[in-house]
Amino acid sequence: MDSAAFLLSDTHRQFRDAVRQMAEARIAPHAAAVDRDEAFPWESYKALTEMELPALAFPAEYGGAGADMVTQAIAAEELARVCASTSVTFLVTKLGMLPVMNFGSEELKRTYLPRVASGQSQASYCLSEPDAGSDVAAMRCRAERDGDDYVLNGTKYWITNAGVSDTYTVFAKTDPSAGHRGISCFLVEKDWGVRVTKLEHKLGLRGSPTGEVVFEDVRVPASHRIGEEGQGFLIAMHTLDRSRPTIGAQAVGIAQGAIDYAVGYLKERKAFGKPIAELQGLRFMVADMAMRTEAARGLVYRACALVDAGDPDGDLSMVGAMAKCVASDTAMAVTTDAVQLLGGYGYTTDFPVERFLRDAKITQIYEGTNQVQRVVIAKALLG
Ligand SMILES: Cc1cc2nc3c(=O)[nH]c(=O)nc-3n(C[C@H](O)[C@H](O)[C@H](O)COP(=O)(O)OP(=O)(O)OC[C@H]3O[C@@H](n4cnc5c(N)ncnc54)[C@H](O)[C@@H]3O)c2cc1C
Repeated sequence: MDSAAFLLSDTHRQFRDAVRQMAEARIAPHAAAVDRDEAFPWESYKALTEMELPALAFPAEYGGAGADMVTQAIAAEELARVCASTSVTFLVTKLGMLPVMNFGSEELKRTYLPRVASGQSQASYCLSEPDAGSDVAAMRCRAERDGDDYVLNGTKYWITNAGVSDTYTVFAKTDPSAGHRGISCFLVEKDWGVRVTKLEHKLGLRGSPTGEVVFEDVRVPASHRIGEEGQGFLIAMHTLDRSRPTIGAQAVGIAQGAIDYAVGYLKERKAFGKPIAELQGLRFMVADMAMRTEAARGLVYRACALVDAGDPDGDLSMVGAMAKCVASDTAMAVTTDAVQLLGGYGYTTDFPVERFLRDAKITQIYEGTNQVQRVVIAKALLG
């Protein structure tokens, strides 16, 4: 047994320090403005691209850095610690490209992966629809074969990076009579007729565009089908299993950002003639916040290690769901307490903790709600 497996390596720690330094210097200064203005964080995206973070998730043979999942989680954490909207740009492109990486043809990999790895191009993952969120198989989007093409018709909803992405990974029914076995997956370029018809105004994650994407007679070459016909549901779930741990990391990062800010504030703020950091009631709150966050971080890293190890015991779905659920519930609780620790100031936009609270909420909803994660966990245990 090697207990070092439970520690971060020197390389991981150095990487964490480097990303933290970059994020504090180049991303944190824009975080409040992108949230206020609902503006895509282009300056921050430039900074993370210069650090080659978009390359992390992709194999070296396709222009990537071939980093392990813990490294990717550290990047997600450190970006989310200052700006959750920026962290999602890097996570969603990976989400959009995992189907290509794991199920795509060699031609698709060679064409698209280097573009996203360099940061020149971004991707979206189009699974949800107005009437098909948790119930993926209820999707209505249709792909009909016509010669060497498929013709795509339908509406996708809640699509992160809508309008910013150049490529859209779209799930659609090729056989509507076959339920979830009738779903297939396609890579669609923006210029083939992808229309963004609405952008949402959201509680949090406001620097990340979330939109309605409409496909009307969009012709997609059959060469751009990812995997086999009917394999779409499996691809979607396989992808989410390998992405959820990094949503957990995003949640851990948001929680850590709130703790770090609150700790600094408690040392400065005085009440009754002394720093409020000396009040035991508040000290215990901080201890609980840190405890929960550290526990969530450990579970997230374990889920990441399972992805890297190729899911040796077949429990990645369950552990990944646990990691996402624990981390996002923790982020919600910790950020709520951080607002409390700052008193009235915490409730204003002059301080970042209310943004952390608003950003934390989405981690309980996307990539499967926390109720759906509990369905996954219970199914693994009870059948
Ligand atoms: C900001 C944002 C970004 C997003 N980005 C993307 C994206 O890039 N791509 C994409 O495809 N989707 C994306 N989504 C969609 C997201 O994944 C869905 O919102 C989510 O899966 C829930 O679906 P729904 O909103 O239709 O809720 P519903 O499925 O209608 O759920 C409503 C409620 O019922 C509960 N529920 C549903 N089924 C069950 C069940 N079996 N057991 C117990 N409770 C249940 C849910 O937990 C929830 O509380 C995004 C959403 C948001 C808000």
